[in-house]
Amino acid sequence: MNRRELLQSGTLVLLLGTAQIARGATILAVRVWPAPDYSRVTIESDGHLATKQLFVPSPPRLAVDIEGIELNPALRELVAKVKPDDPNIAGIRVGQFAPNVVRLVIDLKLPITPQVFALDPVAAYQHRLVLDLYPTQAADPLAALIAERLKDKEAAAAPAAPASAARPHDPLGDLIAQQTRKSTAPASPASAPVSGASGAATTRPEGQNQPQTSGNGKTERLIIVALDPGHGGEDPGAIGPGGTREKDVVLRLAHRLRERINATTINGNPMRAYLTRDADFFVPLHVRVNKARQVKADLFISLHADAFYTPRPQGASVFALSQSGASSSAARWMAAKENKADLIGGLNVKAKDAHVQRMLFDMSTTAQINDSLKLGNTMLKEIGRVGKLHKAQVEQAGFAVLKAPDIPSVLVEAAFISNPEEETKLNSDAYQEQLADALMRSIEGYFARNPPLARSRSV
Ligand SMILES: [Zn+2]
Repeated sequence: MNRRELLQSGTLVLLLGTAQIARGATILAVRVWPAPDYSRVTIESDGHLATKQLFVPSPPRLAVDIEGIELNPALRELVAKVKPDDPNIAGIRVGQFAPNVVRLVIDLKLPITPQVFALDPVAAYQHRLVLDLYPTQAADPLAALIAERLKDKEAAAAPAAPASAARPHDPLGDLIAQQTRKSTAPASPASAPVSGASGAATTRPEGQNQPQTSGNGKTERLIIVALDPGHGGEDPGAIGPGGTREKDVVLRLAHRLRERINATTINGNPMRAYLTRDADFFVPLHVRVNKARQVKADLFISLHADAFYTPRPQGASVFALSQSGASSSAARWMAAKENKADLIGGLNVKAKDAHVQRMLFDMSTTAQINDSLKLGNTMLKEIGRVGKLHKAQVEQAGFAVLKAPDIPSVLVEAAFISNPEEETKLNSDAYQEQLADALMRSIEGYFARNPPLARSRSV
């Protein structure tokens, strides 16, 4: 392009720019985050977008009119960004519906309860219009875990005995029934087999999930460890100098730890890992806590990777909740940083459940914190055998994600992703394996001293 053409196109851009400011906003980027829990479509723009929406139940589709914009290539990209295996979205159509009005039609695979909301600019993002598509019939995570365990048992005890004898007063059966009644998932918990967050097929509790019994007819106590891979979706977490994203390495670590947990029994009771997210999508902090409580988890372990402005800091840290201020200014800073995840990930603050649930989780207990400190200390000891420690003691601060009042909860910063050497380690299979082994040993060590059966459960 010569100088004259450049000048001309410059003028053209200038004219277009003026025209667009007069009309409204320009679409900068579009993103789709598919997950069994819900699928999200994000439209990022340089100004606030006014919308009108209409949900059509049959066949299920959501029409959204965005006013004050023209169809542009960024917006057209949405069509190709939907993956065939998206659990909720069948496809997206876009068109210029009227001058200055673009219509999106999202064709859905199942009935959906949509949440459409706007987010103000934050961190690296400009204005975001968010379309969250929740299955109207939410999956039941506890039923999924139990179904998964049953499948394993049947496979192990082939030829499988027919699971037909219902035991109406079995505690596990009651637990499932209670879970169904108490479910506070964003969408109403009705009955349909939907793929659960753990990736397992969900079966309905009523009559289909038989309580498990061991050979002598004694009921098994399923020991559930909630693993909480930090960040996800719009929130990448910390990013290393080589471009490694915290949300990716911690999900891989969670998968490795899940394998180990699912292969372990404690005093004859089988263990199961439950992941608060098993894909790349945003889960609000209070929802992570709520999910762990829904499955009545015995432990909650949030997995993260640390970052600092300079490359030198290194080593792992473990945090527990604090009732009376942070144990150090570094811990306070870290909690404030992690608590920002909702802002970046994109929380719908107007959603009914958000406020109430966050209030509920402000009732931390001394017993929970004491148990968390025990777990944390065991973890530091075990992680110290395979890698460096940033702090030799468990630190405490007001982490929102550690606020389940009845579940010992720790947050592990596995290493500093901002340190080039540790970024490489976090990416390496060998170190991930070592870390997962260390975390598994600490879980077993904790249960050896604090048997899960001795702990009373508030249901
Ligand atoms: Zn983090």
